[in-house]
Formats: sequence, C-alpha cells, structure tokens
Amino acid sequence: MRTINKIIIHCSAGNQKNTAKDIIAYHLMPKVLGGRGWKAPGYHYIIEADGQTLRTWPEESISNGCKGQNAHAINVCYIGGVDTTKPGYPPVDNRTPAQKAALIKLLKTLRLKYPKARIYGHRDFAAKACPSFDATKEYADL
Ligand SMILES: [Zn+2]
Repeated sequence: MRTINKIIIHCSAGNQKNTAKDIIAYHLMPKVLGGRGWKAPGYHYIIEADGQTLRTWPEESISNGCKGQNAHAINVCYIGGVDTTKPGYPPVDNRTPAQKAALIKLLKTLRLKYPKARIYGHRDFAAKACPSFDATKEYADL
C-alpha cells in the first residue's frame, strides 16, 4: 500500500471541451509526436466540464501531476482553469457548478479513504497558478 498524505488539485489548463481521454492521451504520447512522453499520466481522477468524474489511473500507482510530491499523493484534475479566449491563456477559476459538486464528492470520498491526507492545490508546491483557485482554503473543512 502507498502511504497517501496529500490530495493535490489541478486544472487541465486547456479548453473546457477537452475530455479526460484527451488529457491522458497527451500525457502518454511520445514527445516526438507532440505529447509529454510520460509513462504514467498526470492524474488519478479527471472531472470533465459536465461533472463526470473519471478514474484515469489506479490509486495504488504513482501519477505524474506534481513534481517531488507524487509518491504519496493522489492527483485530481478538473478540465479548464484558463481563459482560452485570451492570449497566453491566463488562469481563471471557471469550474462549472457540476465540477464544483463533483470535486467535493470525490474529495470527501478520498478523505474517508485516506484520513491522514491533506488537500492542496498544485500552486502550493510550484510557482504556478494551477488549479486557478485556493484549494487549501476552499477545502479546509473537508
Ligand atoms: Zn497542476
């Protein structure tokens, strides 16, 4: 069993119409073909714009979402988090109501399963905007 002490929230930093399948394919695609070339995808769960939650990697396996933290983390991502209508795709908290509800549901389930795990945003570990909101604060009571 892996020891899980962190649940880390991410955004996909792309179009909200993307699917979980798109994200995983991009992570696993070889670099020469334009992907990231990772052996494991970035996230264990991805929440699409309609609130559908997809398990994209086994919790027992290490995913690739947050450098230096992955060994003991579950990485969770919602699709979106940037304004794709503006140049440079600035960060924006564009979680849909369905995504917000799905995030809370998933996080509650994970907290029950891993009572010692605390909830963070990717930004707590890297100089990034991801997940485009303050996850530590918002989920402090979960
Ligand atoms: Zn991230």
